[in-house]
Amino acid sequence: MELYSGDINTLIDELAALPGIGNRSAQRMAFHILNLPHDRVKRLSDAIINAKENAKYCRECCTLTDGDICPVCSNQKRDHSQIMVVENPRDMAAYEKVGKYEGVYHVLHGTISPMNGIGPSDIRLKELIARLGENDVKEVIIATNASLEGETTAMYISKLIKPAGIKVTRIASGLPVGGDVENTDEVTLMRAFDGRTEL
Ligand code: ZN
Repeated sequence: MELYSGDINTLIDELAALPGIGNRSAQRMAFHILNLPHDRVKRLSDAIINAKENAKYCRECCTLTDGDICPVCSNQKRDHSQIMVVENPRDMAAYEKVGKYEGVYHVLHGTISPMNGIGPSDIRLKELIARLGENDVKEVIIATNASLEGETTAMYISKLIKPAGIKVTRIASGLPVGGDVENTDEVTLMRAFDGRTEL
């Protein structure tokens, strides 16, 4: 027996399909939404649709942004010869929040994971290699997570780039093994960045 009417069930099911939202939270959110004034609900649904329709991948670093090029890549004050490679836009945001890094980024949108069938061609590696040829890149800093996948990806990128004579470094000390860049505090992130070692 269905506990709620069709439309309410659909809403709960859609919310429950989001990451980190279980069925109980989905029910709580659904009833919260149903109790909101109509204009608030419209703002929420418009925000979802607008973000989805307008978000594009930056043509330089592949992060998600509104225009063709993200604010970091379009900033001429940033050091375009230094590229920090991160797993996703949230990791880039974590470093931007620290506010000390002056270079630019490259967002892979994933990591190489043979166990999950994710190979080098499934992440944004081609785009990174293309950038190295176009710009006068002096250093590539690999800031993937300290997980098995993150390490595998770092080693792969290092092997790919080093023959081109570009310095490749890896953020190191401070980031706990198995630790996420996204969930690491600002001081630790900065220490990991400062303590990067050449691969
Ligand atoms: Zn960009």
